[in-house]
Amino acid sequence: MHEMSLCENIREDLEQQAVLHNFSRVKTVWLEIGKLSSVEPEALRFGFDVVMKGSLAEAAKLEIIEVDGQAWCFQCQQNVKIEHRYNGCPLCGAYQVQVNGGEQMRIKELEVV
Ligand SMILES: [Zn+2]
Repeated sequence: MHEMSLCENIREDLEQQAVLHNFSRVKTVWLEIGKLSSVEPEALRFGFDVVMKGSLAEAAKLEIIEVDGQAWCFQCQQNVKIEHRYNGCPLCGAYQVQVNGGEQMRIKELEVV
């Protein structure tokens, strides 16, 4: 389950931020997960609680914001919303699309003490 190692990355990130910004507890983490990132929000939620035990973010609340996949369609000359990486353009059906959004996972905001 790669969500576990993702959670470990988040914890390391939080620990670094705590040093940089001088806080000692994390109360809430808002996490953006792109729908094309292949991260399972439920698995991540489970891993989060386990990995954060004993850390500065123990019992922190995890708020997941799912971000739609987005791609540029060369036929339509515009950004379109896509559900899966290998889907074509929902407007014209062309497969000449270039994914340009919804692939990453990132911490959007923190509530800290
Ligand atoms: Zn199109």
